[in-house]
This record gives sequence, structure tokens and C-alpha cells, in this order.
Amino acid sequence: MDHFTKFVNDRKEIKAKCNYCDKELFCDPYKNRTTSLRAHMNSCKTTLMRLKRLNYK
Ligand SMILES: [Zn+2]
Repeated sequence: MDHFTKFVNDRKEIKAKCNYCDKELFCDPYKNRTTSLRAHMNSCKTTLMRLKRLNYK
């Protein structure tokens, strides 16, 4: 999974930081599974594609 960097914060919560937009998401395998990550990955890609298109103008 290259889109996210997993880490544990001060409150011992497993989180994942998006490598593309620096957004931090919960990554608890028991509470959240990975569906929220996958959902973010899809929306993030769409956002990035839109940004790229703007930059290449
Ligand atoms: Zn992102």
C-alpha cells in the first residue's frame, strides 16, 4: 500500500497518512478496516487528477 504511510499517534491509535494530500485517516483494523482508506484513495486520485489538469494548462 504505497498511497498511505501507517503510523501510531500519541493516543496509540493506528492511523494512516496519505502520501499525496497529507490527510490523516484512522486505520484501525478492528474498527475501521481499510474501507475508509480505499474510499479516500479513490476520492484523492480524482482530486489529484483534477489538480494536475489545472497545472498543465
Ligand atoms: Zn489523499
